[in-house]
Amino acid sequence: MEKLRKRIQHLKKKRPGYTEILNFYQQVREEQEKIKDSLKVEPVHLKKEWKELLAREGFSMLERKDFPVDLEASSLLFHSLCNIAKEATPHMAEQVEKIREVISQKRFDLKKVFTGEIEGEKVADQFEMDRKVFLFLLHESLKPSLEEGVKRLGQEVDAETWLKGHCPICGSLPSFALLKGEGGKRYLLCSYCGFEWRIDRLSCPFCGNKERGSLQYFYAEGEEAYRIDLCEKCHQYIKTIDLRKIEECEPILEDVATLHLDILASQKGYNRPVPNPWTS
Ligand SMILES: [Zn+2]
Ligand SMILES: [Zn+2]
Repeated sequence: MEKLRKRIQHLKKKRPGYTEILNFYQQVREEQEKIKDSLKVEPVHLKKEWKELLAREGFSMLERKDFPVDLEASSLLFHSLCNIAKEATPHMAEQVEKIREVISQKRFDLKKVFTGEIEGEKVADQFEMDRKVFLFLLHESLKPSLEEGVKRLGQEVDAETWLKGHCPICGSLPSFALLKGEGGKRYLLCSYCGFEWRIDRLSCPFCGNKERGSLQYFYAEGEEAYRIDLCEKCHQYIKTIDLRKIEECEPILEDVATLHLDILASQKGYNRPVPNPWTS
């Protein structure tokens, strides 16, 4: 956490316009760290034949609802994240108010949303909540459990040879890409479980396009560590963070602190398949 706090300080100095978002991000991360030591997550056992079959067919290992989750810890975290969000922006405060009201009237079971028995999207629509805020709070509350699961499940897959546009563990799309190591190998980071797997440098993770002429990129002046890879075939883009060029500690933080690039990409008419909660 110390390293993260330092990096956030550095980013705030460099980009003062991001202060509010970065403060919020830091508070969320501090709360998640607090519950990590007491987390109880059951291991998932997959049969060897089953694993081999999945890898051969290109299927992911689990569905989102199959992730082992510490429900008590996630519920506690959800409530503390609501406290933080309440102070973040007037819109979030209004949303938290709504969420709390519905929960206090026991109109839905938060734990069933965590296990996937009830879809978060449906709950948000039913009670007229902002989907983005509600799903963000849910996902951030589950994250410590998901990370714990990925630590074990990640050992069961070969992240270097998967080379597909979706996560080998949970099947979700990537939120952004990373370049790292000698020669700058390219990796994708799962938007749901946070697993990282390798993919070809020259390819669109969303439609599989590999034609050089229709894959472009741009970056902001003086910020060569962050670039936007555009695909002219599907008109989608992925942000790529070159970890060799910055002293990063958490890629998600770098994504949050470069929203100006998302704005540029969207102005050019490109879509981000999995936006972060601050992009629209
Ligand atoms: Zn995943
Ligand atoms: Zn594409």
